[in-house]
Amino acid sequence: MHRPEAPDATQGAGPDGCGLWAATAPPAPPCAALSGEVTADIAIVGAGYTGLAAALHAAAAGATVAVVEAGAIGQGGSGRNVGLVNAGLWLTPDTLEARLGPDHGPRLLAALADGPAQVWEIVRHHAIDCAARPAGTLHCAPDAGGATALRERHAQWRRRGAAVALLDADATAQRTGARGFRAALFDPRAGTIQPLAYARGLARAACAAGAQVFTDSPATAISPETGGGWRVTTPGGSLRARALILAGNTYGSAAAAGLRAHQSVLPYFNIATAPLPDRLRAQVLPGGEGAWDTAKILTSFRMDAAGRLVLGSVGALGAVDAAAHRAWARRRLAQLYPALADQPFEAEWFGRIGTTPDALPRFCAHGPSAWSISGFNGRGIAPGTVFGAMLARLALGETGPEAIPLPLHDGPPPADPLRHLRAPFWRAGAALWHLAGARGG
Ligand SMILES: Cc1cc2nc3c(=O)[nH]c(=O)nc-3n(C[C@H](O)[C@H](O)[C@H](O)COP(=O)(O)OP(=O)(O)OC[C@H]3O[C@@H](n4cnc5c(N)ncnc54)[C@H](O)[C@@H]3O)c2cc1C
Repeated sequence: MHRPEAPDATQGAGPDGCGLWAATAPPAPPCAALSGEVTADIAIVGAGYTGLAAALHAAAAGATVAVVEAGAIGQGGSGRNVGLVNAGLWLTPDTLEARLGPDHGPRLLAALADGPAQVWEIVRHHAIDCAARPAGTLHCAPDAGGATALRERHAQWRRRGAAVALLDADATAQRTGARGFRAALFDPRAGTIQPLAYARGLARAACAAGAQVFTDSPATAISPETGGGWRVTTPGGSLRARALILAGNTYGSAAAAGLRAHQSVLPYFNIATAPLPDRLRAQVLPGGEGAWDTAKILTSFRMDAAGRLVLGSVGALGAVDAAAHRAWARRRLAQLYPALADQPFEAEWFGRIGTTPDALPRFCAHGPSAWSISGFNGRGIAPGTVFGAMLARLALGETGPEAIPLPLHDGPPPADPLRHLRAPFWRAGAALWHLAGARGG
């Protein structure tokens, strides 16, 4: 289903940037390119979690909804990620509240703390076949600094009533089956999904609720109509609607590219083993949690439904850096799970994580009845789902912008002036770090 993408140093190589997830996801619902003139109540640009959750919510509420997607459903971050369905953002709860203040802070935290529950409920309600496993996540500490950070995170979530638990080195070793961690924070609200399957499932559910999803339909121009409402132009036709949701996020292209300027790209790759033999499979994350560590150049690891171990870290698999990251993955696998040292890898892919200078998403009004929320800083599965529903309520007129627990920017978000420096810095830094084979990295 995936089309070749324009060459881009931070896109996945080859015709299919979603790697293992494209090879194992159920098919997307049949969609065609937009042709001719289509009219809807709500136009949505981008078929990732944000756009599709908005489409599902608005269509289920009775609105006519049309989504235009530049390529295939989920071809952005939504089809390439690790699949860790987390509560909250990367920021600790205290930092998030301090940055957003006493009104937005607690409300955003409460909404995103409930994010995984919303994902599990959507998956259940619409019978989405995406290997959803609400078995929790383990945030693991490879060193003393990481263990201190986890204790702090644990205390902050506990003060807010979350049932997170701190595990010591023995319990962490038992739960992960891995070597080298001093502690872990277990979050029972969280879990894992097959990311592209979730995106395709959201699209299927949205279509079943009456939404139209047009693939291979890049928005090349978006303009206000003289009598009110919006026109979204694509090569094959155009879409007119009274309200507009821009959900191109970090992958925004052409008319949706304005959302990229406030984000810096953090490249992130995944490498998956072949399905492990049963005797080894039983030793790796036997409880089915997803895991990652506190290192700056972090390691993430999780199993897929067929028993492949998916190992990820910061970096792009481009012509120059791929060899360093592959060699790192081989070493890191042996470090974490010596019994898996010789297991072959069978898939690799990478994508762009959109980060903002203060690690908070941006909520923007792009004109009358036109909104976006973007910049999820590597936490987009549950937040995209939650924000998509919030944007739908706004577009439906059920709520005003004050219902969104983020400051409202009038117009596109202010650009990050350092974005062109940050991306190459992270990319080169990750390659050097992995080349050096730094411990814990
Ligand atoms: C490698 C990687 C690992 C990650 N790991 C995790 C994780 O474990 N957990 C987690 O919660 N988050 C993770 N994330 C972040 C998460 O994937 C994203 O935040 C989330 O997918 C964003 O969803 P979205 O719908 O806002 O944007 P996207 O999924 O990027 O969707 C945007 C869509 O808009 C389309 N589009 C862009 N421009 C146009 C246009 N002009 N016309 C039409 N369509 C357009 C794009 O083609 C794309 O399909 C990760 C991201 C990456 C890249």
